[in-house]
Amino acid sequence: MRAQPVTGPRLGRVHGFNDETKRLGESILRYAAERLALDPVPLDSPRTPAELDAVAGGAISAKGIGGQSALELFEDELALACLSTDHPRYLSFIPCAPTREAAMFDLVVGASSIYGGSWLEGAGAVYAENQALRWIANLAGLPESAGGGFVQGGTIGNLSALVTARETVRARTGARPFRVASTPGSHSSIASACQVMDTELVGVPVGDDLRLTGAALRQVLLDEGPESFFAVVATAGTTNLGVIDDLESVAAVCEEFGIWFHVDGAYGGAGLAAPSIRANYAGVERADSFIVDPHKWLFAPFDCCALLYRDPPLARAAHTQHASYLDVLTEKPDWNPTDYSIGLTRRARGLPFWFSLVANGTDAYTEAIEGTLRVARFAEDEVSRRDYLEVVHHSDLTVVVFRRLGWGPRDYQQWSDRLLERQEGFVVPTSHAGETLARFAIVNPRTTTDDIVVILDSMA
Ligand SMILES: *Cc1c(COP(=O)(O)O)cnc(C)c1O
Repeated sequence: MRAQPVTGPRLGRVHGFNDETKRLGESILRYAAERLALDPVPLDSPRTPAELDAVAGGAISAKGIGGQSALELFEDELALACLSTDHPRYLSFIPCAPTREAAMFDLVVGASSIYGGSWLEGAGAVYAENQALRWIANLAGLPESAGGGFVQGGTIGNLSALVTARETVRARTGARPFRVASTPGSHSSIASACQVMDTELVGVPVGDDLRLTGAALRQVLLDEGPESFFAVVATAGTTNLGVIDDLESVAAVCEEFGIWFHVDGAYGGAGLAAPSIRANYAGVERADSFIVDPHKWLFAPFDCCALLYRDPPLARAAHTQHASYLDVLTEKPDWNPTDYSIGLTRRARGLPFWFSLVANGTDAYTEAIEGTLRVARFAEDEVSRRDYLEVVHHSDLTVVVFRRLGWGPRDYQQWSDRLLERQEGFVVPTSHAGETLARFAIVNPRTTTDDIVVILDSMA
């Protein structure tokens, strides 16, 4: 007797497409289109778990409430409890300001069930992602052979690059170097990567300009023993102050000692597309690995980090996962993005960025980045002009860190809270050298000089 096919009515109800799901599709597209058209989008504000329990506590039930009601719950309650990181006056941390094209295409990626980990399964998507990676590699001046993949964020990008650096030394020499050199200004993800790798992070002292230099690096390497290091991390745009390390002299020292040269451009790497500041990145073309987050200053939606290697086979050797059920993929010479980083399953998260590049053209990117640089220069001038404010450190990029004379930590926090309460802006305090300060990070082309004036006025 033949087995009966198992297609229960419940399964069909969830996965089938009928009039009801068609209407829901229209509602979802309407919501997305309206959200993207909001100008400006409301800033919104967080709510407490108890407040959210009160409106959404029992949302998951045995029978379900239907798509339209679930969408309403999100639209009317949960969405309002999420800050809009693309608001022109969201200037905290590093905002995210996707182009309309990139944000819209993210819906397509979600609808398409593409497996982005292997060429076999996602060739078209991987091809497009590699094209976008090539644009970045060209901006950095990396060789034709350079390549990598899009990963979740700078944290995974940095970790993946450092793992490749260490495995490369181990494969070549059998040694087990256990140190990474960087500056105190490098991003917290570098310390986190070292912790995951059980590696010691050695800080290289910096001068008044806060930049890592080859001379200081060389001294630290000689003092500590260069053979104990497997990588040096230079930052092309520190997160807090926008400092670009002296990549040229650092590259020369890395070459001298044969140490892997990683450049973390998660935030600042986008400036490679801006002719007015391109000279600050001289030396980046000598990097063994390089990252930039398109979800920061390259106008892609979360979560998207471009990870590039000068010599991709080294990364492939370090990261390819081997298993009987994967042999069909890994025994071929195909380009499988998953082989170049931590992680196996991956969303084709570089596609929205690719789509926007194709649609808008790269000149539009250059113009948008230059525009944010002009607004940042305006903000710095405007701070200098006001007698109650003071620039802390001139930035190469679009972060502006400044002090309000006479204020202590509580004043900054109360001002920041008030700003959000009044829905006038989201600007959280930062600190540098133990002092609480104000900080703008401007990556949104829709942030205007008027926005800056309004916020600075509120500190008078
Ligand atoms: C933001 C940032 C990171 C971390 O990137 P995520 O995408 O947040 O994981 C790393 N390095 C620098 C310099 C950054 O600004």
